[in-house]
Amino acid sequence: MSSVSLSSQLNKVQLQHYLALPQGGLCQVTYVWIDYTKERLRCKNRTLDCEPSSIEDIPEWNVGSPTYQPEGYLGDMYLIPVRMFRDPFTHDPNKLVLCEVLNCYREPAEQNTRFTCNKVMEAAQHFRHWFGMEQEYVLQGMDGHPYSWPQGGFPGPQGPYFCGVGADRAFGRDIAMSHYKACMYAGVKIYGTNGESMPSQWEFQVGTCEGIEMPDHLWMARFLLHRVCEDFGVIANLDPKPVQGDWSGSGCHINFSTEAMREEGGMKHIEDAIEKLRKRHAHHIRCYDVHGGEDNKRRLTGVFSTASIDQFSVGTANRATSICIPRRVGKDGRGYFEDRRPAANCDPYMVTEAIVRTCLLGETDSD
Ligand code: ADP
Ligand code: MN
Ligand code: MN
Ligand code: MN
Repeated sequence: MSSVSLSSQLNKVQLQHYLALPQGGLCQVTYVWIDYTKERLRCKNRTLDCEPSSIEDIPEWNVGSPTYQPEGYLGDMYLIPVRMFRDPFTHDPNKLVLCEVLNCYREPAEQNTRFTCNKVMEAAQHFRHWFGMEQEYVLQGMDGHPYSWPQGGFPGPQGPYFCGVGADRAFGRDIAMSHYKACMYAGVKIYGTNGESMPSQWEFQVGTCEGIEMPDHLWMARFLLHRVCEDFGVIANLDPKPVQGDWSGSGCHINFSTEAMREEGGMKHIEDAIEKLRKRHAHHIRCYDVHGGEDNKRRLTGVFSTASIDQFSVGTANRATSICIPRRVGKDGRGYFEDRRPAANCDPYMVTEAIVRTCLLGETDSD
């Protein structure tokens, strides 16, 4: 099998011809939602009579059962638009819209973790809590092999690839840069991007976002990543340890602060929050990958800039810990901290909700 998909090799000059046709004042909207795996995204398109000026102008829609639903499930699901972005693939006035999924009784569907996350964010609004998330991923060819790795073999050991420059160190930069631009155009709060430790592994950061904006924007950034990769004919793999052995896994570090942490004397508030996290380590590990902690077992081994999954640890400018206080924050005595435990395939609604419940709403394991 070729490492690049056949569809990506269709004639792009023809595609440009059709994409450039006028739309006669109509608007294409791509509805995007998370399927029941809590990991994969789905989308479908619909025409509106004119350009919507806000999310309220986008009608709810529904989707039938063929798309991956638990067995025995009856009836359509509702797609409820919650956040609107510009469409970087077909351009203005077209939109992308992130949706919540409700079941046929109009209750939040199994995979709809946004519903409670949003309530928790609202309850904690007065803390003015900010997040930034660092999404790592590995580019993979259609043959299931990391993109551009030698057939049946391995590239040279890790070291030269992190933030690397040059054809022998940076594999697939076109994708990272196209995704970066696509996020900017769409209105996703993209913070930056860099090459990662393993060859063909990359990272982008989303933030700084307040409350529910964080997981919404991260999910849309993931949609854009998968969609950009589709155009290039390769796959973005979010498994936390896609290659066994001496190769880094992929995480989704989460950076967190409240107004009090960002102000003079904020370190005390940072330390308080970290103590609360220490007491709930096992609970957080369960929320930090999509399989209740099972996936992260393969990644959080105590090597490759990770801490052991069984032990909670804290350090300043130390990346082999569960929680890291960035050097600059240690020096200033205020700012934010980084929780390095979430896996690349985490559900950001679950991760942000767990942090807010533990650090801000004072929930403990006995609650
Ligand atoms: P690292 O040094 O761990 O690789 P990055 O530079 O990749 O960190 O990412 C830093 C992240 O921290 C970004 O997502 C950014 O939005 C976030 N961030 C910066 N300041 C704050 C803050 N005050 N509160 C929360 N998140 C923040
Ligand atoms: Mn980073
Ligand atoms: Mn990283
Ligand atoms: Mn980090």
